[in-house]
Amino acid sequence: MEIKIYADHAATTALSHAAYEAMLPWLQSKYGNPSTLYSLARDPRRAVAHSREVIATAINADPSEIFFTSGGTEADNWAVKGTMFQHDRGEGLITSAIEHHAILNSCAALERMGYAVNRLPVDQLGFIHEETLRSALTDNIRLVSIMLANNEIGTIEPVGKLVEIAHQAGALFHTDSVQAIGHIPLDVKALQVDMLSASAHKFNGPKGIGFLYVRNGVRLIPLLDGGGQEHGMRAGTENVAGIVGMATALQEHLEHLEQETEYLKLLSCRLIEQLKAIGVDFCINGSESRIPGSLSLSFKGADGEMILHRLDLMGTAVATGSACDSKDAVLSHVIRAIAVPQEYAYGTIRVTLGMDNTPEQMDIIAHQISTILR
Ligand code: PLP
Repeated sequence: MEIKIYADHAATTALSHAAYEAMLPWLQSKYGNPSTLYSLARDPRRAVAHSREVIATAINADPSEIFFTSGGTEADNWAVKGTMFQHDRGEGLITSAIEHHAILNSCAALERMGYAVNRLPVDQLGFIHEETLRSALTDNIRLVSIMLANNEIGTIEPVGKLVEIAHQAGALFHTDSVQAIGHIPLDVKALQVDMLSASAHKFNGPKGIGFLYVRNGVRLIPLLDGGGQEHGMRAGTENVAGIVGMATALQEHLEHLEQETEYLKLLSCRLIEQLKAIGVDFCINGSESRIPGSLSLSFKGADGEMILHRLDLMGTAVATGSACDSKDAVLSHVIRAIAVPQEYAYGTIRVTLGMDNTPEQMDIIAHQISTILR
């Protein structure tokens, strides 16, 4: 079935036209390896340096604090493992129960090596409370890693306040901003985070490229050993086209941030209003303070997987809040952590909207859902 309505922008986004155009030269005519010494390397080297500046400016960092990676997963792995590997086993880190698996599974790997991991619970809106963090911070905690915005329910965490608490206890703070960057204003100096992960394909950049912001003065052990790229911190020939595409896409989003926010809020409201008008019994998960266009919806007595597949047959792509194994529908760790009532929880889908969606599509999605539920 051809997808006519794409409503899964938290999974990935289409490459923007501007990013695509900006990438082309670095794939063909200007293909030089930035690390080489002849003139073919000069332009790629400048392009990487310029992109680093664009990205640093976008988050109020210094270019020397931006390290390119293969995406959000690598940036997350690097932040937690590159920090903890400097410490003895038995020392620990704190994270939340609703992180992406790039963080949760990195923490689980550290736990198997003998590090202590504390996963903080969240409230029903998905918030980590300051008090919960404060009471979990013991002497042996070296790092706190809490996401800026959740990928299933969109809740934006009070990271600025949590950073202060972590720093008072002498711990570093990392935030996974993969779902937030390009979609809400982001200033690393205001937030005072020590590290921040990002991934280009969530803001209309290419897949397979991201970065880790590491505040000057923060020590991190490299995970990839090899050549001296990225100031000797992350070996491997630079993905020049990807880096340029990422910087172009980020700049483009930030230039239109206000209009995008307005438009996506309008689309979300329209979908909700339509569902209410049709008389569907559902609840909206997460906080009002969430990523624009991000909606986790739970339908009473329904099966989220079934809704997803039926919508797919109708030409609409959404995600589900639950992962399915062969026998039982298993609730996602996020839906479980925010304690969505049982009769709604299994009927959860995630609708994440983008600038390519239209108000009319919201009416269509609402009608498709009501048809499926009937
Ligand atoms: N962190 C969050 C919150 C995400 O949503 C994702 C991707 O879905 C990742 C990390 C992983 O990013 P990537 O796909 O670039 O590896």
